[in-house]
Amino acid sequence: MFDIKIIEAGYIMADGGAMFGAIPKRAWLRKYAADADNLCPLAMRCVLATTADRRILIDAGMGDKHLDKVSYYRPYDLKCADESVKELGYTTGEITDVVLTHLHFDHCGGATRKNESGRLVPSFPNARYWLSRKQWANFLKPNRLEKDSVFADNILPVYDSGQLHLIDEDTLLCDGVELQLFDGHSEGQLVVCINTDDGVYAFPGDLVPTSAHVPLEWISAYDICALTSLSEKERFLADAEKKGYTLVYCHDAKVKTSKVKRLNDDYIASDKDK
Ligand SMILES: [Zn+2]
Repeated sequence: MFDIKIIEAGYIMADGGAMFGAIPKRAWLRKYAADADNLCPLAMRCVLATTADRRILIDAGMGDKHLDKVSYYRPYDLKCADESVKELGYTTGEITDVVLTHLHFDHCGGATRKNESGRLVPSFPNARYWLSRKQWANFLKPNRLEKDSVFADNILPVYDSGQLHLIDEDTLLCDGVELQLFDGHSEGQLVVCINTDDGVYAFPGDLVPTSAHVPLEWISAYDICALTSLSEKERFLADAEKKGYTLVYCHDAKVKTSKVKRLNDDYIASDKDK
């Protein structure tokens, strides 16, 4: 069974209209705070899942390599994933696996770093980095909606070092950790399900970025295909509700985890842990 540690990699500010798509402001503002510029604070939450012989990092925050390019998002309280791992008592060399849910900068910037001679290298030298082949194809031939959110520096050094491991379908990373593919937000986004003594913890990434995004129609305008997001989210939430998953929200600035429950023909977050 895995032990779960939550890592806070910092915050960015994103426009509330973009985060909540077609949902009117008076509705989303009851669930999620915004400042006078209509900006919502978004966490960049990661997870370290450990057993005696496995240390798996899920997502890596935005890192510190592209601060100039993403200043629009007003990042603050940033912490690089390699620093967080050290604070939890591990060396970067002890991380056995890194799962990148997808390649948007706020999820994978910490996957690589500049070494002492200024060369870009993987932040975790012995880890196998897991990514879907669909997401890799998306990186190689980016669409216009996503191209400004993806930086080659965050993933090419991983490819060049031979540490990138691409998957085509739902895959057991190891006993107790499953990677599942979901479309909608971005092609082949990975969702990670981890067995713990307290049941299954699921890391849905941007499929369900905050607890406010649990209801099916609450879909971010950043998603490349809203209808696909809706049906993919429904597929995930049906499983999450039936199996009693604890969801870890990557972007919720207040609610770190919750369960989900069915309400009429929809879902809501329950048992929130703030
Ligand atoms: Zn994101």
